[in-house]
Amino acid sequence: MKPVPKSPDWMLSALEERRQQNLMRRTVTLGSPQIPHAKINTQDYAAFCSNDYLGLANHPALIQALHDTAQEYGVGGGSSHLVCGHLTPHQQLEDALADWLGYERVMLFSTGYMANLGVISALAGKGRPVIQDKLNHASLIDGALLAQATMRRYLHGDVASAEKLLSRSTDSGLLITDGVFSMDGDVAPLSELSNLAIKHDWMFMVDDAHGLGCLGEDGRGCLSLAGLDAERLPILIGTFGKAFGTAGAFVATSHDYADYLTQFARPYIYTTAMSPAMAGATLASLRIIQSSEGQERRDRLSAHIAYFRQRMQSLPVVLMASETAIQPILMGDSKTALQISERLKSLGVWCTAIRPPTVPIGGARLRITLSAAHSDADLVLLCDSLEHVLIAK
Ligand code: PMP
Repeated sequence: MKPVPKSPDWMLSALEERRQQNLMRRTVTLGSPQIPHAKINTQDYAAFCSNDYLGLANHPALIQALHDTAQEYGVGGGSSHLVCGHLTPHQQLEDALADWLGYERVMLFSTGYMANLGVISALAGKGRPVIQDKLNHASLIDGALLAQATMRRYLHGDVASAEKLLSRSTDSGLLITDGVFSMDGDVAPLSELSNLAIKHDWMFMVDDAHGLGCLGEDGRGCLSLAGLDAERLPILIGTFGKAFGTAGAFVATSHDYADYLTQFARPYIYTTAMSPAMAGATLASLRIIQSSEGQERRDRLSAHIAYFRQRMQSLPVVLMASETAIQPILMGDSKTALQISERLKSLGVWCTAIRPPTVPIGGARLRITLSAAHSDADLVLLCDSLEHVLIAK
């Protein structure tokens, strides 16, 4: 290995600052699937940090579909969708998603992060107004920054605060919220926000990365939970890296929006299409989500959520107002969150400590995520271990 030139001082001091504040981020290598049990080095842990909420990432039907589609169409996307990377499995997936959710068109993106950058930067031009929830995902914020839009953020989940900002704006623009908030697990007041957007003649966009597959009728997510449709929610983002158990993302929208995004969404235009094999696996995943097996998985997940919340009632913990698979426990400072996470690990339970800047300062937490892949015994181990660690704290 060749010697690396000395790193710049500003970089070394930024790293040192992170270390001092217990905020250093590191990857962990797993020698196994993520859930229900993960192998780190030689140790086995019951794992509660994956977004594979329905336990589909290792489902035999998805693995088979990935294999079969790769055999027929290849592994790599080969080029962007607009050059020659849009293959039959992509189109089949787009059509199936549009049909499932009741939209005219669906467009695939390679990741959720890129879908949000692409859609927002195309729809919100320089200086145009974008109003978002304070706790929206980083990719939604970054989309508005990339667009050089005039961004304002309303108090979390607070429709009155959103209305105040909308009424103050002289131009109409784009109102954006997460469906399920990724770090808190609560659901946005979508019906009220949709009414607000209609009243003020604003575009309305929801990122339902954490709700699709898990919530609502047929797993149609927050859209179904809030009783919305394409007319009241014209721009819906979904991702495949969570309940779908695969990778990639999509926007469900109208013909006009889709045609416009095809011309102007740069993270759609200038990147390699998602792998066709992944599109095949994702279609297999959608078919499970729509089936009675999908419903059984959602029911199992709901039972785990109810059990977890009931067990936590007797503990001295700050739980979030969440009925979803995301069940964070607020710790406050980063050091405590890391310590508790390490002590759980010593009992064979893995949940990551989430720290600023991913969450606000003073909002460090264990982001516990539950999955249909967990057994009842896994849930008992999680709750017993939390009881042990938090009561002995
Ligand atoms: N939106 C939300 C709400 C998310 O939580 C995430 C990822 N955690 C994304 C978008 C990005 O999706 P992807 O991982 O597919 O880039």
